[in-house]
Amino acid sequence: MTRSLVPTVCPYCAVGCGLYIVVDDGKAVGIEYMQDHPASEGSLCPKGNAALEMLYHPDRLTHPLKRAGEMWLSISWPEALDLVAGGLSKALREGGPAGLGFIASSKCTNEESYLLQKMVRSLGCANIDSCARLCHSSSVTGLGRALGTCSTTNILSDLANSRCILAIGTNFAENHPIVARWVFRAREAGGRLIVADPRRTPTAWGGDLFLQLNPGTDVALINGMIKVILDEGLINRRFIEDRTEGFSDLESSLEGFSLSEAERITGVSASDIVGAARAYARSPASAIVYCMGVTQHANGTDNVQALANLLLICGQIGRSGAGIYPLRGQNNVQGTCDMGCLPDFYPGYLSFEDPRTQEAFRRAWGSNRLPAKKGLTSLEMMDAAAANGTIKAMYIVGEDAANTHPCSKRTAKALGRLEFLVVQDIFLTETARFADVVLPAACWAEKEGSSTSTERRIQWHEKAVEPPGDAMADLWIICNLARRLGLNFHYRSSKEVMDEICDLVPIYRGAKPSASGGVLWPCKKEGEISILHEETFPLARGRAIIRSVHFRRTAEETSSRYPFLLTIGRIGAHHNAGSMTMRSPSLLGMAPHRFVEINPKDALSLGLDDGADVVVETARGEARAKTRSTDRVMPGTLFMPFHFPGANHLVRGYRDEHSGMGELKIAACRIERC
Ligand code: SF4
Repeated sequence: MTRSLVPTVCPYCAVGCGLYIVVDDGKAVGIEYMQDHPASEGSLCPKGNAALEMLYHPDRLTHPLKRAGEMWLSISWPEALDLVAGGLSKALREGGPAGLGFIASSKCTNEESYLLQKMVRSLGCANIDSCARLCHSSSVTGLGRALGTCSTTNILSDLANSRCILAIGTNFAENHPIVARWVFRAREAGGRLIVADPRRTPTAWGGDLFLQLNPGTDVALINGMIKVILDEGLINRRFIEDRTEGFSDLESSLEGFSLSEAERITGVSASDIVGAARAYARSPASAIVYCMGVTQHANGTDNVQALANLLLICGQIGRSGAGIYPLRGQNNVQGTCDMGCLPDFYPGYLSFEDPRTQEAFRRAWGSNRLPAKKGLTSLEMMDAAAANGTIKAMYIVGEDAANTHPCSKRTAKALGRLEFLVVQDIFLTETARFADVVLPAACWAEKEGSSTSTERRIQWHEKAVEPPGDAMADLWIICNLARRLGLNFHYRSSKEVMDEICDLVPIYRGAKPSASGGVLWPCKKEGEISILHEETFPLARGRAIIRSVHFRRTAEETSSRYPFLLTIGRIGAHHNAGSMTMRSPSLLGMAPHRFVEINPKDALSLGLDDGADVVVETARGEARAKTRSTDRVMPGTLFMPFHFPGANHLVRGYRDEHSGMGELKIAACRIERC
């Protein structure tokens, strides 16, 4: 028997924990912990420990499929690729590049994401997006405008050096559990943890101060804290003068804003807002950690800008322990954005509007067809398809849009109206059921490549085992398709693609990603940059931008028909639309069915026992669930995880005007026994 340990990265969340796959005679038989990994130090959460469980699941796609009425026919790769190239070429001929839409996968490697967007743009098409539209596009826009970068500013382990951590809209204790080890190390050293969330989560249990704000009132809470800091002279005037612009506008914008107003809007007592503001501003090193509770709103970019304002007026950035952490969701969503799978940026967040960028990519790629304007977001592509508009054909890689997009019924209508749909995935997802052609892909353990974690860590993983049946690596699929579309895609390996990325993408220049810990971007000869913005911000004049933002009530209002506010989020056992975790027996056993949390007072008044079968209804549709009576949620609010099919049918999906983020967090609803 030959046994080997193959270094790799957990395929679930963006913390990017390292592990080894134990391979016996070509079969993955277990995992070993990577004790010297800089982010995880050998630990894994339940999802990481169960990472191999879905590898050999009988539902894995093993052959290309083509639709034959209501049936699927197994076909060969040459036939499948010819079909796909023919369908895309027909759409190009008939509708031009604007008639195509592509969604990249945050489960693919950096090299695969890079090649997909290169193929799309080389066809003249600008319509490429990724799941970031549904999680952190508000961070890309909000932090990009305020700080010039949109990633975590400090590495995760540096959280241990913070003396005050404001965790807002994140339940990291369940959803990024390895982050908790660094936060609790800060607490052991005397640091304070302030948690702001509408729901009393396990993260809140470990906090020194819990701000249970009304859903959708983040801007009012943060502005309330800023108002206290201004009134009590707790600002860092030197930092503001030396390193920022826009402070006086923020100051005057809050002149008429009172603490009592913040209390009235948020439901958080004025004394707690004062306590949080003082703790954050006075601590020698404060950090902000946030997630989709902040971003997934129709005012998500305002929420992010408000957080940036808070840290900038206090100068809590650019030092050890001081920074901001937008915790990304999927394991390579950071890399997928870095690689330009966004409709408004080339790789490295280089702007479409800069003619020098256009010229650099035109020369490097040898293409005269690159689009000059930004494209549609994934949600706009669905709008166009649903309205029988410009989008006629789509190619979706590793995203179950039919389940994850807001108001998913509208997405299903869009997918059903497409003239041609290709889905490339590891399982036959709900989205794949609408496809004309399904391409079976290898999963992370079955291919080599790099991914970038939420802390900017580019990590290489080797191929550990062979994919099932005829499934192939996405890189192989994209290259073979691109050649059929007339493009010169003759890459022999992921390493060759990474060399091109390192040549072209400034933030990756010089990167030599390795297994076991990787390398942080931006890559510098003099060593890793574990803290961004120590001296400057990559914006005009090197200064960060403070912009005043006002509270706007964007969440759906309750009514006599829909008297509850439903909040939607994640739980520890599952991941995204659940296509992998629902096929992992140990994870499914932890959370086998959908539930809805309801406050015991509301449960009593509605006569609902714990575990009652209920239907939760919004103006868009309904979902069945079992009740969990708990004071984690406030009276008048409910919580439901989105991993089980149907939850995202319930939300409106109103768009953030700045980032195009779809509102996924809140919906007015009713709940009844069924
Ligand atoms: Fe995987 Fe994230 Fe858990 Fe680490 S914290 S083991 S990356 S799911």
